[in-house]
Amino acid sequence: MLVRTRFAPSPTGHLHIGGLRSALFSYLWAKKNNGKFFLRIEDTDRSRYVEGAVDSIKKALLWAGLKWDDEPIFQSDRLDLYSKAAEKLLNEGKAYRCFCSEARLDRVRKLREQNKLPSGYDRKCRNLTQEEIDEHLAHGDPYVIRLKVPLEGETICHDLIRGEIRFDNNTLEDIVLIKSDSFPTYHMAHVVDDHDMQITHVTRGEEWISSMPVHILLFQALGYEIPAFVHFPVVLGKDGKKLSKRDGAASVIDFIEMGYLPEAVVNYLALLGWSYDDQKQIFSMDELIQFFDISKISKASAVFSYEKLDWYNGYYLRQLPLDDLYQKALPYFIKAGYVSNPPSTLEKEYILKILPEIRERIFRLKDIESYCKFFFHQPEIYNPDDFTDKGRDLNRAIEILKSILPILKETDFNIQSLEDSLKIYIDKTGIKVKDCFMPIRVAVCGSKYSPGLFETLSILGKEESLKRIENAIKYLGSSQLNTGTTV
Ligand code: GLU
Repeated sequence: MLVRTRFAPSPTGHLHIGGLRSALFSYLWAKKNNGKFFLRIEDTDRSRYVEGAVDSIKKALLWAGLKWDDEPIFQSDRLDLYSKAAEKLLNEGKAYRCFCSEARLDRVRKLREQNKLPSGYDRKCRNLTQEEIDEHLAHGDPYVIRLKVPLEGETICHDLIRGEIRFDNNTLEDIVLIKSDSFPTYHMAHVVDDHDMQITHVTRGEEWISSMPVHILLFQALGYEIPAFVHFPVVLGKDGKKLSKRDGAASVIDFIEMGYLPEAVVNYLALLGWSYDDQKQIFSMDELIQFFDISKISKASAVFSYEKLDWYNGYYLRQLPLDDLYQKALPYFIKAGYVSNPPSTLEKEYILKILPEIRERIFRLKDIESYCKFFFHQPEIYNPDDFTDKGRDLNRAIEILKSILPILKETDFNIQSLEDSLKIYIDKTGIKVKDCFMPIRVAVCGSKYSPGLFETLSILGKEESLKRIENAIKYLGSSQLNTGTTV
């Protein structure tokens, strides 16, 4: 059997990161089995259609390396197929036209709620006589088409992750198959399409489990073979709710903009609900295809951790060849206004010096903006407390900076010479390394955090570094006088 899976997003907006995880699992399962992975756009709910969503979803999938086979399928192109299937069910007495108005359905809903009955339709139109139906049709009354769900017995469903799940048929609803605007519901379109596309594994989020019995009944009513079902656990934020924008990034486009690498996102998402063993953490796409197994997907919902994703992204950033890193990082330098677009040769060389030093320290390319500011702009303000250990003896820090200036003036600004000069200074004066390095670091970078001190100084160059140290001395001197705030 050739495995055929599909990803079937509704074009209601950008692709959610949880959706990408579903797409990834579907893709991996198909590719692992040398099968096919399709993209189906479920665009039959016109009221929720968002212009541009299809392109955005495709872009996100391609970014992650999830290339679908053949051309994408659009449900809106296939309305005939669904109508024909519904017609067949009507003719065979397996479905019926329901002429109930919205107002009536509302009343039924409320009444059932009051009487503590399961929500759903009361099946008023299920047993209309032919004359009643003809009369409605002659009046041009709008109608939906509903499935006649058996009233007794049970429907047994199999899910490859959860095993067997049984549903009493008397708890199921006569679901709508075709809406009054002639568009199919998800239920109808999914069953017809998955049959027509010869999908072997229906892979989707676990929110569809409760609909599985009516889907099985619909497959049976249409005389279709029932595919395997795989319901993936949901991806939640730390608060146990669906991951949303308030948690940080939630759509794939957000993650792309923040400078996450596709390799990192794919690697992390694969382990969000699936595991190989407790040891292996790093997986390339090829390895995922090789090792992925539906039977090792967990039933429990998965909690999304930005910290863990950052860890992966940091790892993959460090693996990139410098030229690739440059290509990916350049837009962030441009966007921050640090270099021109396109950059000059000098600017390019400067970035190429910075990147090896910062790649150990940033997690996302977006961090370039804040982390690299000092490489392009001298600090405007300082926090005097940063210059000394626990903000203690500021005068001493100023003295150290003053005494180090003439030494740096005589030093070549390459890493080795800087290291040698400062080492001699420390040996001679007996000043602790930290007490010497910290004020210099803060003077040139404006903060306690920077790449290695010698590397930073050599990248900034002698003239710029000395200017900044002199500025800091002036700044601190006047802030001493003026109650320690700004100049
Ligand atoms: N359009 C459905 C959704 O976005 C797809 C479910 C499925 O994959 O069958 O949830």
